[in-house]
Amino acid sequence: MSANAPLGRAKIIAIANQKGGVGKTTTSINLTAALAEKGCQTLLVDLDPQGNASTGLGVDQKDRVITTYDFLAGDVAPGSAIQKTEFENVYVIPATTDLSSADIELISNEKRSFLLRDALHQLSMDVFKFDYILIDCPPSLNILTVNALVAADSVLVPLQSEFFALEGLSQLMLSVRDVRATANPNLRIEGVVLTMYDSRNNLSQQVEEDARQNLRDLVFKTLIPRNVRLSEAPSFSMPALHYDSASKGSQAYRQLAQELLDRQPALTGG
Ligand code: ATP
Ligand code: MG
Repeated sequence: MSANAPLGRAKIIAIANQKGGVGKTTTSINLTAALAEKGCQTLLVDLDPQGNASTGLGVDQKDRVITTYDFLAGDVAPGSAIQKTEFENVYVIPATTDLSSADIELISNEKRSFLLRDALHQLSMDVFKFDYILIDCPPSLNILTVNALVAADSVLVPLQSEFFALEGLSQLMLSVRDVRATANPNLRIEGVVLTMYDSRNNLSQQVEEDARQNLRDLVFKTLIPRNVRLSEAPSFSMPALHYDSASKGSQAYRQLAQELLDRQPALTGG
């Protein structure tokens, strides 16, 4: 985090993979819910114009009057953009289609890549005392994802347990390297998490083996199984952890949250 950051102890994690449908949003929603369940004040920034993360946390379209776009544009105070959800310790900045990268390009600002970082680091964010801020990225390496990488302390990459899963990674890693070389030298790779894992499927096992061989400790021990509860939950406007707390999917995200917490240096109170 930059030296002048007033965000105190909040750790900012971008959930990114330019490949579509790999489990970014499912991971964002349920990791947020799992961290919150462990007592962490957690904010999910919906940075995808599809707005799926907002839906999954129960924010109706009609309640998306102030959105991530307004937050990025600097038009509103954090207190107006951040919504408390019905889930304890879970906050969200919702998105709508106005957050298309084309709209962001219209913001005539040479600091276009720094919009999210600057918005998150304004002093008035401090009152929320967030422990974690997760960013659900769109399936693209566009200006929105660049904003997330510039704002984040680390990037967490969901990897679908399917053939070709690893191939897209090098592109993402190049973007990470670019951002490190310019705007955010301290950006870390938090880790890679295998999603939609099917232990009965040889292909899943093979992808896991490849990933662990190539990426070693970067791969989380936790595997997120393919689990229908995870895909059903958003249509009930809630994280799987609330929809079916005992489901395999919910348990896996709890385990992922624990693994994440165990990897962090102790958070100093603030
Ligand atoms: P996009 O790139 O479009 O933003 P995404 O990477 O955010 O997609 P998700 O929306 O999380 O991916 O998941 C894609 C689809 O797969 C969704 O229908 C979701 O419900 C389903 N899905 C994700 N993870 C799992 C899982 N572990 N088990 C079963 N279904 C899953
Ligand atoms: Mg998504």
